[in-house]
Amino acid sequence: MPQRSFIRPDFEDLEPYDPKYVACDVMISANENTYGLPEGVKDQMVAAVAEQAFNRYPDPMANGLRDAVAQWHGVGRDNVIIGNGGDELLFNLLFSCGGNGGVLVSCPPEFSIYALYARMAGMRHVPVMRDLATFEVDQAGVEAVAKDARIIIITSPNNPTGNLVDPAWVERLSGMTDALILVDEAYIDFARDEDSCRRLVRDDGNVAVLGTFSKAFALAGVRCGYILAPKSAVDAMSAVRQPYSVDVCAQAIATVAVRNRESFSPILTQIASERERMLAELPAVSSGIQVWPSAANFYTARIPGAHDVWNRLRDEYSVLVRDFSSTPGLEDCLRITVGTPEENDRLVAALAELVKG
Ligand SMILES: *Cc1c(COP(=O)(O)O)cnc(C)c1O
Repeated sequence: MPQRSFIRPDFEDLEPYDPKYVACDVMISANENTYGLPEGVKDQMVAAVAEQAFNRYPDPMANGLRDAVAQWHGVGRDNVIIGNGGDELLFNLLFSCGGNGGVLVSCPPEFSIYALYARMAGMRHVPVMRDLATFEVDQAGVEAVAKDARIIIITSPNNPTGNLVDPAWVERLSGMTDALILVDEAYIDFARDEDSCRRLVRDDGNVAVLGTFSKAFALAGVRCGYILAPKSAVDAMSAVRQPYSVDVCAQAIATVAVRNRESFSPILTQIASERERMLAELPAVSSGIQVWPSAANFYTARIPGAHDVWNRLRDEYSVLVRDFSSTPGLEDCLRITVGTPEENDRLVAALAELVKG
């Protein structure tokens, strides 16, 4: 008997998200913070977890953490929603504010999750390609379709290209459309305060900003993120969310991270300086290697024969980076996370052997 298929017909070609994770000595593929937590902070987190009542359901809205995030960013509690990672919030945003054939505008090459969630939420995706030489947003292109959009997503710093968007342009764009503009700032903690669009979040406005504890705060394994948004959008997302998706441990741990946020600065400074060192050293390995400036904890490198280089880095040098060579606009490109000095040195040494000329 043929195997029965229970999947809905329009989802038959969907496949699970595959981070292409393979255990290697040097794991610089997923934009994690490979430096880990500042001295003493993990102990505080463990102590905070020990105080939790595991037999009780968590606070559904995570109000303690919500208040800490609200105070940090100078918004009200009503303008904050906490999620099981930023990914869950992206889905809830497209599901609750999009759907029903509404148009999602976004700017590839970018985080591939947007297109996937748009489809799952029943939105129509209108991609406006970035300039493929600089990866800058095509501002005129976005403005031209903004009027018909339900949601516009701009990623800053962009994943995988590392560049920022100008908050002054986002402010102008917000005046040209009734769409909700989500600025995905998963990596903004690596950039300067003035690069963030969070000051544009107002109850009577249409700008929202996504943040996460997975990247700068070295908590990718804990699953916690947030969106700052007008109250009406927070209410819409609250209505569709799984009530207890943020468990007591994640709430307690992320709250300790917010309280100790200043103690992460030395690590963030070191990551930025290692990033600049790599952006200088890689082109010196071979004139065939091209890199782009980045405001995040990763950078994109165009390397001749990138797919083959990616395979050999993993299999012969136990260095895992992310292969983007089959992504339109990123031919021969790898995305590389900034690691510790030792990890970065391992990568440079391997590339020196693999890439000639
Ligand atoms: C990592 C990332 C997120 C969120 O990640 P979570 O671990 O789910 O919080 C969101 N957007 C972009 C662009 C990212 O790279």
